[in-house]
Amino acid sequence: MTAPLKHSDPIIVDVALGDRAYDIVIGRDVLQSLGERVAALRPGARAAIVTDRNVADHWLEKTQASLAAAGIATSHFTVEEGEGSKSYAGLQQVSEALIAARIERNDLVIALGGGVVGDLAGFSAAILRRGVDYVQVPTTLLAQVDSSVGGKTGINSPQGKNLIGAFHQPVLVLADTAVLDTLPQRQFRAGYAEVVKYGLLGDEAFFTWLEANHADIFAGGAAREHAIATSCRAKAAIVVRDEREAGERALLNLGHTFGHALEAATGFSDRLFHGEGVSIGMVLAAELSAHLGMIAETEAARISNHLAAVGLPTHLQDIAGFAQEGLADADALMALMAQDKKVKRGRLTFILFKAVGSAVIAPNVEPSVVRDFLKRRLERRAPAG
Ligand code: NAD
Repeated sequence: MTAPLKHSDPIIVDVALGDRAYDIVIGRDVLQSLGERVAALRPGARAAIVTDRNVADHWLEKTQASLAAAGIATSHFTVEEGEGSKSYAGLQQVSEALIAARIERNDLVIALGGGVVGDLAGFSAAILRRGVDYVQVPTTLLAQVDSSVGGKTGINSPQGKNLIGAFHQPVLVLADTAVLDTLPQRQFRAGYAEVVKYGLLGDEAFFTWLEANHADIFAGGAAREHAIATSCRAKAAIVVRDEREAGERALLNLGHTFGHALEAATGFSDRLFHGEGVSIGMVLAAELSAHLGMIAETEAARISNHLAAVGLPTHLQDIAGFAQEGLADADALMALMAQDKKVKRGRLTFILFKAVGSAVIAPNVEPSVVRDFLKRRLERRAPAG
């Protein structure tokens, strides 16, 4: 265990995208500075807050108070919580509400919520009057370290997740680590899988630090700020080098090819949160890497051990109802992976490991190799559910 960190002034991470550059402000209780930051950024702008019911219960009043104290006129619109709001109907509701609130080109949309609200409100801002600015106020760990940064916005289509969307960078991201105190523990833990991802894909020292400091991150100590800032720095650096995912940004999909297939198999339901799918997916990616001789079995075990230590699922068999869902069938999982939008001309792209802390894009993985690997994984432990 390294010496405990102390809460400090807000940490500012710069996303250096030229005329689309913005700051990510991270710290405990930074929400109260939202109004003055928005007023400084866009003097005279009005703001429409888009949020969901759970977040509104806990954090809407504080958000409104901060904006009001800075003299900013606000309106707000609340969607239902959950993935179902990232739909055509949800987009219509939010967009109509923004038009009714007379949000114009010089005004601002404020996305106050998790990845669902961020993706939905961000996409609505991208197309409203051909594009208005928006601020991300992420309220889940997943949103603070991942979805609020990088400008990917969108909704789901009945044919798949995130199929309708736009790149639209926010003008500010404000990540108040105290808002995570009201987040259900399981949601927090699912977001933590994305934190681990940054260590695993490019920063072994950060992963080692997480192994030693995860308890303080969960408890809301200063390690939480450090973990979020380190994750945001890692994501910002990749986004700046490859804003539209022509290459390197795909590294951020570590664990996602397997993970998305598992999410699809469980109907994108509460049975498997996105981060939980990513956790199992990262372990499978590590084990596939070991199977291919790219890393040692002990390194794959190290990854799995840390995720299990914080209570994340690490095996296919950890998913409730595993056996009934066709999840125990390698061919069914292969079919689900083939539907992923990262598939190019029948070949599967995986993010694999060269080492703990060093991931590579493997664009041409032979499906039969993956099928054999999955078959072996499925035989290794008797299904639990
Ligand atoms: P979410 O937005 O559904 O939030 C999870 C739950 O927590 C919801 O019920 C919400 O109401 C509740 N909640 C949020 N903040 C809370 C708080 N502070 N206190 C109490 N309850 C709170 O889920 P998520 O995991 O944040 O986001 C998942 C979405 O993000 C998915 O749609 C995914 O596709 C998307 N995503 C987008 C990107 C991107 O780059 N745009 C990246 C990763 C994920």
